[in-house]
Amino acid sequence: MKLPLSAQQDATAEYPLPLENFGRAHLAELFEDRVIFRSLEPVDRRLPGLKRVRYRLGLPDLVIPRKLDEDYARVALWILEQAQDRRGATVDELLWIGDTLSGDGAAFQNLRRLSGRPGSAFVGNEQASEPPRGALDPETHIYQANRWAALADWLAKLLEMGLRLDRHTVVLVDLDKTALGARGRNHRAIDRARLEALHTVVASVLGDAFDRTVFEEHYNRLNQPQYHHITQDNQDYLAYIALVMSTPAIDCQDLMERIDAGALRSFDQFVRWVGTCVVGNARISEVMRQIHETVTNAVQIGDPTPFKRFRRAEFEATLRRMGHLPDDTPASARLQEEITLTQEVREAVLWLVRRDVLVVGLSDKPDEASLPHPVHHRGLPPIHRAETHSVGVSLAEALARLDR
Ligand SMILES: [Mg+2]
Repeated sequence: MKLPLSAQQDATAEYPLPLENFGRAHLAELFEDRVIFRSLEPVDRRLPGLKRVRYRLGLPDLVIPRKLDEDYARVALWILEQAQDRRGATVDELLWIGDTLSGDGAAFQNLRRLSGRPGSAFVGNEQASEPPRGALDPETHIYQANRWAALADWLAKLLEMGLRLDRHTVVLVDLDKTALGARGRNHRAIDRARLEALHTVVASVLGDAFDRTVFEEHYNRLNQPQYHHITQDNQDYLAYIALVMSTPAIDCQDLMERIDAGALRSFDQFVRWVGTCVVGNARISEVMRQIHETVTNAVQIGDPTPFKRFRRAEFEATLRRMGHLPDDTPASARLQEEITLTQEVREAVLWLVRRDVLVVGLSDKPDEASLPHPVHHRGLPPIHRAETHSVGVSLAEALARLDR
C-alpha cells in the first residue's frame, strides 16, 4: 500500500536522529571573509583571486573556470598558496569537506593530482533512517558517509594516516548543502529559497499573466538532461528560458518544437531568437525588455550569471530563511523551513582552527546570490555573516578524544 503523499511530507514528522539546536551562529566564525564564490575572487580583498592570476596561468579572457574544470583547481591552489604565504606557511596537506562525490569529490581529485600533496575529502549525505555508514576509499582518498557526525571518524583516520593537520594544512569547506543546509537533512530549505525567488521574479514580470502551473511545467521539462545543450545546466539560463516560454506576448507555440527539432542548438541562439520577438513587439513589458537586454549583454561578455534579478531575489529569499524561526521550534519543523548551519561541520572545522589549519569557504553560487547588492540590499549582511541556528549532533566528546 502506498503512503499518502501528505504523510511522507509531514513537516512535523520526527527526524530519525536526535538533533540539537546549538543556538545562533554564522559561517564567518569559521573562515571570516576567506570565502570564494563563483567569480573566484575571495571576499577578503587582501587575498588575490582569478583576475590577478589569469595572465600567469594563461587562462582566456573573461572565462571563469567552473568547479570541475582543471583550471579551477589551478586557480584555487594558487589562491591557497598565496593565503598561506601571507601567514608564513605553505600548503603541505589539503582537506575538503563537501556533499557530492561528482562535484566536491571530483574537484578534490583534480586539486590533489595537481598539487601532488597528501590529503583527503569528506563527502556527507545524511540518510538518517539507514544504519550509519562511513568509509575511506584508499584509492581516491575520499571518505563517504551517511552521517554528518562521521566527520569525527574521518579526522581520526587522517591522524592515523599520519597527516599533521597543522599550520601547513588547508581545508576547503563547501558552503551549499554542506556547512549550510546539510544534504540529506536540510538541503530542501535551500532549494525552496531558490524556487521562491524564481517565482517572485517571474510573477513580478508577468503580473496577472503569471500562471504558476504553466511556468513550473516549462521549468521542470527544461530541467532535464536532454535540454542541457540549450540550458547548459545553468540555473540562470533555465530560469530565463522558462520565463520567456511563460510570457504570453512572445509567441512560443512552436518554440518547443524548434528546440526539439534541433533548430535552436545553444543558449546563445535562443537569446538571439528571443531578440527577434522582442523588437517592435508592443506587448512586451518594459521590465521584460530590460531583463532580455541584461541577459543579452551578459551572454556577450561571457558572464555565466546573466539573470541578475533572479540572483538578487535568491539572495533575499535565502536571507529570509536564515534564523527566522523561534529558538524553541522543534528540529524536524525547523529543518523543513529554515536554512541552518551544520553543527558537525562547525565543530569539526573549529577543531581544525584550533590546530591552526587554514580554513577557506568555497561556493558554486554566483556572487550576486551570496553578497548584498550595494544599492538594492543596503544594510543586509552577506550570507556567510547572516546568523541562523546551528543544528546537529555534537562531536565535542569524539574530538576531545583525538586531543588526548
Ligand atoms: Mg555543495
